[in-house]
Parts: sequence; structure tokens; C-alpha cells
Amino acid sequence: MGAPEAFTATAGIGHFIAGQAVAGASGRTQDVFNPATGAVARQVALASADEVNAAVAAAKAAFPAWADTAPLRRARVMFRFLELLNQERDTLAAMITAEHGKVFTDAQGEVTRGIEIVEFACGIPQLLKGDHTEQVGSGIDNWTMRQPLGVVAGITPFNFPVMVPMWMFPVAIACGNTFILKPSERDPSPSLFIAQLLKQAGLPDGVFNVVQGDKLAVDTLLTHPDVKAVSFVGSTPIAQYIYETGARHGKRVQALGGAKNHMVVMPDADLEQAVDALIGAAYGSAGERCMAISVAVLVGDVADRIVPKLAERAKTLKVKNGMELDAEMGPIVTREALARIEGYIAKGVEEGAQLVVDGRGLKVPGHENGFFTGGTLFDHVSPEMTIYREEIFGPVLSCVRVPDFARAVELVNAHEFGNGVACFTRDGHIAREFGRRIEVGMVGINVPIPVPMAWHGFGGWKKSLFGDTHAYGEEGVHFYTRQKSVMQRWPESTPKGAEFVMPTAK
Ligand code: NAD
Repeated sequence: MGAPEAFTATAGIGHFIAGQAVAGASGRTQDVFNPATGAVARQVALASADEVNAAVAAAKAAFPAWADTAPLRRARVMFRFLELLNQERDTLAAMITAEHGKVFTDAQGEVTRGIEIVEFACGIPQLLKGDHTEQVGSGIDNWTMRQPLGVVAGITPFNFPVMVPMWMFPVAIACGNTFILKPSERDPSPSLFIAQLLKQAGLPDGVFNVVQGDKLAVDTLLTHPDVKAVSFVGSTPIAQYIYETGARHGKRVQALGGAKNHMVVMPDADLEQAVDALIGAAYGSAGERCMAISVAVLVGDVADRIVPKLAERAKTLKVKNGMELDAEMGPIVTREALARIEGYIAKGVEEGAQLVVDGRGLKVPGHENGFFTGGTLFDHVSPEMTIYREEIFGPVLSCVRVPDFARAVELVNAHEFGNGVACFTRDGHIAREFGRRIEVGMVGINVPIPVPMAWHGFGGWKKSLFGDTHAYGEEGVHFYTRQKSVMQRWPESTPKGAEFVMPTAK
């Protein structure tokens, strides 16, 4: 692959309402950085309540006609959108790298995982098929169907500016809803590009809208009487706030939160494979993935054998501008996030963990002002330490030593988060027991980052998800539709007289 073209646009980023790009009018803006250089690249508008209300009004106006459009026709729009996404995959990936910092090839992977949800949504006619029972009583049939909710909103995090919105809107729109996306203000550019592609694919105006913004925009959506459901992905405190506030305002809410994902390495595991898995899953995307592995649970004698290998690899990670094709890890998203991560490392040292590799203070030649840190590795981390309990969301791997499998399971199950988990072993019985007993929503057996495929649905347990349904897959279809049951009888023309007893099957 030749060097990809960098995304360097400087124009301000506004909203997309009723099929039109709209400049922000609130007078409030926020800087968007290129994390690799540390420079301000552009400004994003922060919506006022009036601007959010305009987007909701546009989505509400577009709903009746879109809900009435045959699912097959809605699917055809998705097919055209899919084609455009495949053509523009690298443009989107370059936008991600420019504002998030992750390496370009990883950004391409992100776009691909988003595209898979669009592929799933193309099958919506099949997914919306209801159930039918003939003759539930004499001459009576009963069936169920699923209908769209109305205007629904998606509020998304910085770490997957393409994939996470695509966990939501392709399914929501294919189900017949109209949608408002409130992307992260740290990497907002892909949202507008996606809006243009959807328009080009033939999506009617008002079905997909984007409002840029912060808490004010989110709160306006959460309390707006015309917004029927809210999907959220982000940190746990905000997820809980979104769930509670949305529910209080009568909305259906799914709110996916933070994580602290463990990878258990059993003494019989293939250690080389486990090292590769830990390095990729802990340091890939600079640890800014909700499915990143941040804790290695090393069982029995594994620690003494694996920590030196991990240290060697962590020290030699290629940390560079993500647009360089041999980069393994890019910068952190913002200067504040970098300070937070390095603050956690200091806290780990203070609380007595053994700092094996210290990534702090890394300078990348030619990018001295970029928000870089290297890979950090801790050993002898214990469960009461802050670096074990809290989500760091950076390239910091903590090793915890445990004597046996039972203690490993106990440790994972006691953690307040339950997003992803992995177990590396060659023992089928251990693998099976792990899958059954672990209290985490997504489990990998010799797979470090078990992000479910489009038709399986994504979601954690405990403080990693507030709500009942996982994102995308059939759970997504359920979230974005409500069931209606119809019971029908066509009486014969001869009247039988009124019935006064509870009808039962005769
Ligand atoms: P964040 O919670 O700071 O922001 C997420 C969204 O909420 C953004 O759109 C932001 O504008 C909005 N927001 C922020 N503060 C708000 C407030 N006080 N009131 C209302 N809205 C507010 O998260 P982030 O830093 O963008 O993303 C990283 C976090 O997301 C990590 O905790 C990560 O684990 C989590 N995440 C979870 C999943 C998952 O599937 N469980 C996936 C990706 C990311």
C-alpha cells in the first residue's frame, strides 16, 4: 500500500440538519487537534438548544414517510450507502487518524467493522419479519409485528468516531426510525462525511441528522419529548447519567460504559501467542479501546516466564504519527488525556506496583508537540490499587499474579466492570468453565479482543452497560422497534350473540 493521503481540511465543522450542512450559530466552538502534531486543526461548533430542537423537528417531520417506506426500499438505500462506504473507506480512515491519532491501518479496520453493521442492516426485511399463529381460537389469527419508535438519538465517544455511530444508525434507520447523531467533539469530522454519503445514497432529508456539541446538546436530546430512544457509548459515569436522565424522561435507553478488561493466561497456554495477543490488545490504538486488555492475570508460574517477554516488546513498540505505515501505536487523543494517563502511572508507582517499562515522557522526532506516551508495563499489581480498579484508557498494562484458575475467575468476577475478557489456555475443560462462569458480557478463548460480529450484538455486563439490550444485531433491531400484537377475526355473517365469558381456545 502506498502512503495514504492525510486529512488536512481546516474549515469549521458544523451540523447536518434536514439534508443540509449548517454552520454553527451558537457562537460556541471548541478546538479539534491533530494529536500527532499537537496543533489545532479546525474548530467544531457546539450546538445551542435551538439548534438541537431544529434537528429534532427535521427528524420528526421526516419520520412518517420514512416509517411508511417499504423495508426493502430502505434496505436498498443501505446497499447504496454500503457501496459508497467501500469506495471511501480510506478517506474515512484518514479522517479518523487525523483527529483520533490511531494508526491508519487500525482506522481502516475500524471502518470495516462499521461497514459490517451496514451489511447487516441491508437484511432488514428479513429481520423485521413478525410471527404469525393461525387459528389461536375459532376463526382467529394472532400475529406480532415490530414498528419503528420515531426520532432516536445516538451519543458517541471519541475512540471510534466511525464504528460506534455505525453500531447505531444503520440499524435504527433501516428499522424505519429517523436519527440524530451527537458525535464526540474531539473527532467530529467523519460524522458530516457520513451524512453526505447517506444523502448521496438516496436517504431522504431529515432521516439522518448530526448535531455537534457538548453536555448542552446531550441534555437537550435527553429531555426532548419528541426523542423516543437514546443509544449512548462512552464512560461509565456519563452512561449512568444518560440512562437515568433518559429513563426519567420516558425514553428507551441503552448506555454502554467503560471497561477494565482482563486476559487470563493459564500455565499451559502458548506463551508466544499470549505475548502477541497482550501486546496488540493492550497497546493497539494506544489502549484507547473499550475492549483493550488492561489487566493480564498471570496464573501459577506464568508471570516469571512472560513478563520479561512483554517488557522487551513494550520497550520496542513503534510509536509514531499514525499516518506512517509502520507505526504500531499513535498518540493519545488530547493533552488532557495524556496527563491523566501519566498521572495514573505515577499513582501506580506511589501505591507500590512494580514499574517494569515506563512509557512516560516519550518524544517522537519531528513531532515534539504531539500527545505521545510509550507503552507502560506494571507487574505485581494488586486489586486494591487505583491502577487496577479504575479505567486508565491508555497504553498501560497491569500484571496481576494469581495462584490458580479459581482465583483468576474470582478476581475477574469481583471487578465492577464486565465488558470484555479473554482466557488463553490449551485445556478445553478450562476454556468451557471460563466461558460459563465468567461474569462478563463478551468472552474470548484464545482471542484477546472478542468484539462480536454484526449479527451477534455487542454489550458488557455490570457497570459496562446500563439498559437491557446490547448494541446492533437482533438486540439492536429490538431496541429500535416496538412490538405490536394483532388479533384478528372475520366473523361469519350470521350473528352468534354477545359472549360474556373470557374467550379461550375452543
Ligand atoms: P465520554 O463519556 O467522555 O463522552 C462520550 C459522549 O458523551 C461524548 O459525545 C460527549 O460529548 C458526551 N459527554 C461527555 N460528558 C458529558 C456530560 N457531562 N453530560 C452529557 N454528555 C457528555 O467518553 P469518551 O472519553 O469520549 O470515550 C471513552 C470512554 O468510552 C471510555 O470510558 C470507554 O471505555 C468508553 N467506551 C465504551 C464502549 C463500550 O462499548 N462499552 C465503546 C467505546 C468506548
